[in-house]
Amino acid sequence: MAELRLTGRQAAAGLAAGPIALLPSIEAMHRRRGSPEAEAAALRDAIAAALRQLGTLAEDAQDDGAGVLGFQIAMLEDDALSAPALDAIAAGTAADEAWQDAIAAQVADYESADDEHFRARASDLRDIGERVLRAVAGACDESAAPPGSIVFGEDLTPSRFLATDWSKGGGIALTRGSASGHVATLARARGVPMIVGIRADLTAIPRQAEALIDGEAGVLCLDPAPATRDSFLARVTAAKRRAAAAKDFRTRPAVTADGTPIAVLINVADPREVDNVDLAACDGIGLVRTEFLFHGRELPDEQTQYRAYRRLAEWASGKPVTIRTLDAGGDKPIPGLTIEGESNPFLGTRGIRLSLARPDPFRTQLRALARAAVHGAIEIMLPMVAAPRELAAARRYLDEGLQQLSEAGIAHRRPPLGMMVEVPAAAIAVERFDADFFSIGSNDLTQYVLAAARDLDSLAELSDPMDPAVLRLMARVAGHGAQTGRKVSLCGDAAGEPKHLAALLATGLRTLSVAPSALARTKEAIAGIELDRAAT
Ligand code: PEP
Ligand code: MG
Repeated sequence: MAELRLTGRQAAAGLAAGPIALLPSIEAMHRRRGSPEAEAAALRDAIAAALRQLGTLAEDAQDDGAGVLGFQIAMLEDDALSAPALDAIAAGTAADEAWQDAIAAQVADYESADDEHFRARASDLRDIGERVLRAVAGACDESAAPPGSIVFGEDLTPSRFLATDWSKGGGIALTRGSASGHVATLARARGVPMIVGIRADLTAIPRQAEALIDGEAGVLCLDPAPATRDSFLARVTAAKRRAAAAKDFRTRPAVTADGTPIAVLINVADPREVDNVDLAACDGIGLVRTEFLFHGRELPDEQTQYRAYRRLAEWASGKPVTIRTLDAGGDKPIPGLTIEGESNPFLGTRGIRLSLARPDPFRTQLRALARAAVHGAIEIMLPMVAAPRELAAARRYLDEGLQQLSEAGIAHRRPPLGMMVEVPAAAIAVERFDADFFSIGSNDLTQYVLAAARDLDSLAELSDPMDPAVLRLMARVAGHGAQTGRKVSLCGDAAGEPKHLAALLATGLRTLSVAPSALARTKEAIAGIELDRAAT
């Protein structure tokens, strides 16, 4: 076959070459059918089996994987998911057919949603659908793709992603998929190149093709001509050399070319992520997204949270650990906690607004944080603060929690209370906020300054953290910190992009927090920056 170039949208950067692995579609499954009661029991048993499998996978999963699986468990536990299938079974349909139809209808609903977040969740729903269907048919395994292969298909389920060994390379090319879906998040965290939205007729793709995937350019090349293959492999070698060179910077302190030290901390989601990070390579934890802890079957209790926060504090051994209180809502709904049906969830009851509207989980989290603070330098950070009274209200809840702990004789310590600066109002009038420290959330600040939703691929160009309006606000916050002696950092994704660093440091920022996988390249880029030049 002649070389075939297919294009799609970037979901995770990186280059990979390997044999193609076409994703199998789920085959029609034949099984003996019974009475409606027997079919209903078969479906219930299959759901229970699927939940057990997901529970086991979640226990073993690393990084964001457990969060994805927790989300699937919550979806599958919701009776609303199985109700239409059980109704159809009562009317005489077999369990497998009823389940397939019910899931197909819900996938179609998700896919036609206006909200990108819901569209992205269709893949989780398909994943759950397949797992239960296999269990109904009595076949339970979720096959992994062969290591090192370029997986090509309509969509890849999160569980198949997690079952696959990506340490040998490989990549993902999908005709559907979403850059903001769970698989894309996992792919970025593991450095697996991924392209979504490829226009191709999958039935015409040869099963044995060789493939080159360029996640940055969004290009998949099948059966490349020798010249294409050679130049691609030369790029792979150069990229590997760059990554190896950057590795030397990983454990060194970050210093600009003209000798200014820059603190580089890490962002974490799952507390288990730090197990793979060398503490010496970072200056602490600049952001813990605690949403992760809240995606299980139920809201975590005080003791569960205390253990998770204490683990981070002990790992950091005295370096700062900035833990953000629950930032649910917007693109991160939590079933049963966030408010449903808001017309614009990004401008809705999210972050601190939700914590103040539903204070019980907030109280629990603050107590757990104050207890864990005995074991290290925990700092509490509030998300989405827009008005000083929100900060004041949060401080009152913290005071109340400390008082309760004192009365109960439980060991605790008062952590500093800081805030994210991600709402333009907080950046413009930062001096109104009596926070102990500030951390700029460039992801949200950019979307709110430019009025461009962060999860819309079509607005990606407009949603630029390097826009002068965004940079001016960052400089304002950094200047306020320098004047008043309060810590200011930046923990949004902009800090993990080497080409943005000169402009970020030029705003006066001297503390950045990035994904652990970005530590080496961030420090390498900092070493090449002349601050005097960056400021002009
Ligand atoms: C941000 O908005 O930049 C940020 C760090 O928070 P999140 O991405 O979790 O909204
Ligand atoms: Mg944010």
